[in-house]
Amino acid sequence: MDAYGNIFNCTEVSYVATYGTPNEYAIDHLSGKQMPGKRDRLGNFNDRIRQGEYPCSTCPMLPVCGGACPKSWLEGIAPCPSAKHNIEQRLLLTYALSRIEQEELSLQEVSLVNA
Ligand code: SF4
Repeated sequence: MDAYGNIFNCTEVSYVATYGTPNEYAIDHLSGKQMPGKRDRLGNFNDRIRQGEYPCSTCPMLPVCGGACPKSWLEGIAPCPSAKHNIEQRLLLTYALSRIEQEELSLQEVSLVNA
């Protein structure tokens, strides 16, 4: 909520002149003034993903990033985390490192037993 009583469902839009006066992202007002349809602009993001409006509907990263930022998608910016492009390699690397650490711990235990 901003100092003028406007209510938002996004933390990134209040007091941003780019979004107009009155702010086009305001979904409600403390006075009770109706703003029909405004809440859905960002609020129905999951439904829009389900309907296939965004590539998230078929992306394996969806359970991880949740589609990231609805406002970015509206503005034509794909907010995908960089891991989208190499998550398999990152997971393999993490697994390999954990195996190496496990191996080193086992070798340390053997040398302690033999000492
Ligand atoms: S990585 Fe990108 S396309 Fe995939 S779910 Fe996240 S935001 Fe959507």
